[in-house]
Amino acid sequence: MDTQQARPRPLTADETGVLAALLAQHFPGVAELRQQAPHALAVPGCGCGCGTISLIVTDPRAPQARTLDSQPAAVDFSAPGEGGVITLIVIDGLLDELRMSYWGEDPTPMPSPEHLTT
Ligand SMILES: [Zn+2]
Repeated sequence: MDTQQARPRPLTADETGVLAALLAQHFPGVAELRQQAPHALAVPGCGCGCGTISLIVTDPRAPQARTLDSQPAAVDFSAPGEGGVITLIVIDGLLDELRMSYWGEDPTPMPSPEHLTT
């Protein structure tokens, strides 16, 4: 899958909820990331078929976040037959990716926020 050619789209309700859960955590830079979130669009972030999305912050004036590292937050999820971790990736102070790691054999879509366990 060529993510360069995918048309950026608004986040789904599930993606928005998962991002909100990640940004509900407390870490350096989270205040700026919360301001970026309403301006984020998504493109597919992984060719395997899982729910990983790359994030594009569309507001050039969005404040950059000074996080301590590029993976400032993560949440676990658990659903029937599947489970894993979603990690927030921040590059150059901007929301960059919701990266999924999953334990099952089949690619897992972005879970609904009620399946988050942390
Ligand atoms: Zn994948």
